[in-house]
Amino acid sequence: MNEQLKLLIELQDLDTEIVSIVDNIELLPRKFSQFEVPLKEARTSLESINKKAEVLNKKKHDKDLELDEVQDKIDKLKARSSDIKTNKEYEAHRKEIEVFENNIYKIEDEILVLMEEIEASAGNMRKEEEIVRKAEDEFKKQEKIIEEEKNRLNSEIEVYKARRNDFVTRIDKELYDQYMQKFDRLGGLAVVQVRNEICLGCNTNIPPQLYNDIKETGKTYTCYYCKRFLYYLEPPPPDENPQSIPQSS
Ligand SMILES: [Zn+2]
Repeated sequence: MNEQLKLLIELQDLDTEIVSIVDNIELLPRKFSQFEVPLKEARTSLESINKKAEVLNKKKHDKDLELDEVQDKIDKLKARSSDIKTNKEYEAHRKEIEVFENNIYKIEDEILVLMEEIEASAGNMRKEEEIVRKAEDEFKKQEKIIEEEKNRLNSEIEVYKARRNDFVTRIDKELYDQYMQKFDRLGGLAVVQVRNEICLGCNTNIPPQLYNDIKETGKTYTCYYCKRFLYYLEPPPPDENPQSIPQSS
């Protein structure tokens, strides 16, 4: 195989690696957003519990005021007791107080129920606050991991790019330009293997004569169909893992 073709194969490997790292970096925000979901859910749930607690507290506050008002009315009625002259008046006065007192019992019961609900709500709130706290911790932990991953991938790309810049100077300018055109046009795959008379870039049959030339001469040919650069590698010996594709020699 000629030297320039070997360089092209190696360049393709490098570029494939760079593209794969870039893809991984682009996937990171999506990876990150999945940890946002439980945190958002926990916060929404806590907010709804807080709102319910606010409503309950407001109701209790209103009932406390109502209780004070009724108590005030009773006090005022009782203060007028000394003005009562007749039994009939006394009876009416007593009944009036009784109605208000019954009202007091009713309000006190309602306040008790509200206090129980407020207590239960406070318990729920503490539980949900704990869930939010844990979700926040997990989110921050993942944020850090993903940030580190991003930094790691970025510096990896820098290493590959530096190696690539160095490498490209060894490739003929014209050949490199052709490579770049193919790379951009053909989904990042400009150099492919031929195997069993088939181009592995487009899965089209290679004419037998061309296939033989690629095998025998080791020169730089292109697929007549997809226009990718083609190369041939000897299949691995039978004792090796048949699934592994050998790298350029
Ligand atoms: Zn092809």
